[in-house]
Amino acid sequence: MKPLNEMTLCFESRSCNEGFARTAAAAFTAQLDPTVGELNEIRTVVSEAVTNCVVHAYRNTIGSIRLNIRIMPGNTVVIRVKDSGCGIEDVKKAMEPLFTTAPDEERAGLGFAVMQSFSDGVKVRSVVGKGTTVTITKKLSLRCSDV
Ligand code: ATP
Ligand code: MG
Repeated sequence: MKPLNEMTLCFESRSCNEGFARTAAAAFTAQLDPTVGELNEIRTVVSEAVTNCVVHAYRNTIGSIRLNIRIMPGNTVVIRVKDSGCGIEDVKKAMEPLFTTAPDEERAGLGFAVMQSFSDGVKVRSVVGKGTTVTITKKLSLRCSDV
């Protein structure tokens, strides 16, 4: 299906860019007139996915993160966060709530669980040594102005 609108940002895996990414995502999706709650959920899922690139994918190094957002028919937003970092060995395990490979750093292992609960679907494609792509789909509520 062809997107109605699309944007892509590429930025370095510095933690100061987490705020930039979530604000940019909120600014782009604002054109769909989301509720305040939906906008906060979009900010949060982008923040979790980008933080994972910063702290896990490019641990102790700086790499490139690609954020792509597509607005699809039916008030649906598809958010893709891609890194070319270390990759995930066992995606199924990584997505289990409370699983973390960084317990000493006060990581709760809840990032993927949060992404799942604030969206309508999370898909993870990962190749060890090559990188990870997280695709989050979120359907926004229809507002009176859309009817
Ligand atoms: P929290 O998000 O609660 O701070 P966390 O980041 O460890 O903790 P999740 O976001 O659920 O928890 O991720 C689970 C695990 O998946 C991570 O500990 C890490 O091993 C792995 N992981 C997640 N994203 C990536 C990524 N982009 N590249 C490599 N490994 C990742
Ligand atoms: Mg995380």
